[in-house]
Amino acid sequence: MSNTLQKISVERTKMSKINQIDFDNLSFGNVFTDHMLVCDYKNGVWEAPKIVPYQSLSLDPSAKIFHYGQSIFEGMKAYKDEKDAIWLFRPIENHRRLNISARRMAMPELPEEYFMDGLTALLQVDAAWVPKKAGSSLYIRPFMFATGKGFHASPADEYKFIIACAPSGAYFSGKVKVLIEEKYSRSANGGVGFAKTGGNYAGQFYPTKLAIEKGYNQVIWTDDHAHEYIEEAGAMNIFIRIGDVLITGPTSDRILDGITRKSILEIANREGIATEVRKISVKEVLQAAKKGTLKEMFGAGTAAVVSPISSFGYQGTDYDLPELADSYADLLKKKVTDIQYNRSEDPFGWRLKVS
Ligand SMILES: *Cc1c(COP(=O)(O)O)cnc(C)c1O
Repeated sequence: MSNTLQKISVERTKMSKINQIDFDNLSFGNVFTDHMLVCDYKNGVWEAPKIVPYQSLSLDPSAKIFHYGQSIFEGMKAYKDEKDAIWLFRPIENHRRLNISARRMAMPELPEEYFMDGLTALLQVDAAWVPKKAGSSLYIRPFMFATGKGFHASPADEYKFIIACAPSGAYFSGKVKVLIEEKYSRSANGGVGFAKTGGNYAGQFYPTKLAIEKGYNQVIWTDDHAHEYIEEAGAMNIFIRIGDVLITGPTSDRILDGITRKSILEIANREGIATEVRKISVKEVLQAAKKGTLKEMFGAGTAAVVSPISSFGYQGTDYDLPELADSYADLLKKKVTDIQYNRSEDPFGWRLKVS
């Protein structure tokens, strides 16, 4: 793919774990492949990436990741088709976003060939781990964190970039009940909401726990200023269908620029579904629910692709969404996954063959 990067060294595991894995009963993200890609940043440069057996890490207790949270990640998947070819979906977008996150967290950017060559080399070594069963895939987690030492509150001088992979089963979450958040915020203007950084998740856990105690599955985040506009669904982008128009909020400092979100928008446009990218208020959604024009709400993200919402709670009242025979969520999920698994044409050029 490039000639600036030397061949990636591979140290193969002596004892593959693959025979211990029940590929028919995979859950999400808790068994890991035999290998991982590791790349260290020291003295202002990225060293050569290496593929090594999946293993624990040893870090100094003063490593800045533990104290100041310099930590970013990506989430992507590899898909196996009928003929056992392995495919990635828009991987360059993940690399681009990793560097957007890195810049915001004062971390070093990773050159594209380190990401792409490292990822493809790792997938070739662990190709047998990409599951083939319908709906399953290899979940890929590229991440970077501060290993540099010292209690001084400043950016670290050393970092580690790792890609680890987890074979994962089909994501059947069922329909979710959500609570529109009126007190807590996920992100703020000028903040880090657009970056895929660990703290954004840590900050969500407590309000989400409170929502779960009230009988909901997830929180719908609203703007931090007046909790007036709908922003995201948990750690997913949100789509709302009013009448036959599919609406999602514009990306901003506060809303993460999801690859699933933008793919869904492009596919919807191609399918002749009217879309609007604009701010959408809680008031507008309530009015549509009362008038009967609110047809669907769903989250969009790599893990679940789409996650349909069955009802939402707001100020003590629950509002149910109808069961539709012709849901946009189902149609769009099918169109996206058909491209991902090489079951259809790829008019957008999003698929990348690994092997
Ligand atoms: C990762 C993420 C998404 C979804 O992004 P995809 O690229 O579609 O996986 C949406 N919102 C938040 C907050 C996220 O962290």
